[in-house]
Amino acid sequence: MDYEQFFAGKIADLKDEGEYRVFADLERKAGRFPRASHHRDGGVEEVVVWCSNDYLCQGQNPVVLKGMHEAIDKCGAGAGGTRNISGTNHYHVLLEAELADLHKKEAGLLFSAGYTANMTALSTLAANIPDMLVISDALNHNSMIEGIRHGRSQKKVFRHNDLEHLEEILQAAAPDQPKMIAFESVYSMDGDIAPIKEICDLADKYNALTYIDEVHAVGMYGATGAGVAERDGQMHRIDIIQGTMAKAFGVVGGYIAGSEAMCDFVRSFGQGFIFSSAMPPGVAGAALASVKWLKEHNEIRVKHQERAATLKRKLTEAGIPNMETVSHIVPVMVGDAKLCKQASDDLLYKYNHYVQPINYPTVPRGTERLRFTPSPIHTDEMMDDLVAALKEVWNNLSIKLAA
Ligand SMILES: *Cc1c(COP(=O)(O)O)cnc(C)c1O
Repeated sequence: MDYEQFFAGKIADLKDEGEYRVFADLERKAGRFPRASHHRDGGVEEVVVWCSNDYLCQGQNPVVLKGMHEAIDKCGAGAGGTRNISGTNHYHVLLEAELADLHKKEAGLLFSAGYTANMTALSTLAANIPDMLVISDALNHNSMIEGIRHGRSQKKVFRHNDLEHLEEILQAAAPDQPKMIAFESVYSMDGDIAPIKEICDLADKYNALTYIDEVHAVGMYGATGAGVAERDGQMHRIDIIQGTMAKAFGVVGGYIAGSEAMCDFVRSFGQGFIFSSAMPPGVAGAALASVKWLKEHNEIRVKHQERAATLKRKLTEAGIPNMETVSHIVPVMVGDAKLCKQASDDLLYKYNHYVQPINYPTVPRGTERLRFTPSPIHTDEMMDDLVAALKEVWNNLSIKLAA
């Protein structure tokens, strides 16, 4: 086989479909978020970033930077090993306790990323609980799908947020078969939110474990930033809460929180935990500072929701088709991969607004979109400037306006 030709051919196909991913070469500017330098064509332009998952700009919060600096100065750069072999740093222990406290659970367990947390926790639970049936929401994140698949247990998929379909599946299983319902709180592409209470009611009725991915909610929802389950008063009913430190907490790393026995079980049997080196102490120190700070600053969450609502309103007034969402996520529909990429390029190169096109396979074909995530510090001025640019781009490319 001509391997090089094979690789090149596959890439050419992606380009033909308009689905080839091009990274924006950015340099974030601490103290100036959401602004960043964009390196392009041998030069540099300052742009406003509209698609960061550092939702609350914690990545530049001086408190978080101080937490990182202090831990690095005290402990050095790397952790020095897996958690079991010399890699457990005191900052990991403190952060796990902080995350357990955030979610009002007995224990927390850290992973190098949210992806690894889902992959490892789900596969370990699915593979080791005898005769397990995992019931998974149709729109679950790739890391959950892969974790469940890797666990090789029985699996059923319920239609997205469809309680009737979920109950049908629960009902059809033997009453004494172990079951786990795996779902997210905020779905990051459509910005909708799961009916957590009703899912917990069904879990109680059919004696199923509940596993929730609150990656797009931790830091942002609930009185202390523990997520939508906290906001909805359901946190105590969830068996396994999974989250990330890479989005609203502004750093990197993943975790689960739950009972002492469950966390100890995943710690002891989870291969993605056991065989991977611990996160650097600086990362744990920064995450620790971020979680603590966000617990006490609910006003940031209020402001965040206000900014998202304001952008939606401004888009609607301008006739730009945005999905009505109940969260901080503002999807603007284009519905065509090539147009979506072109709109994004025009916004970036002509107007210095950066929003990455979201194409297949992240979203289904025909629902290609620009996904805006305004932060608490995106100003009215930035929004007005963005909306004016969008109107021109929509005109130039003859993209459909809202009906
Ligand atoms: C980003 C994401 C993850 C993975 O978290 P990382 O910390 O980025 O690895 C997991 N679940 C969902 C829903 C996500 O969007």
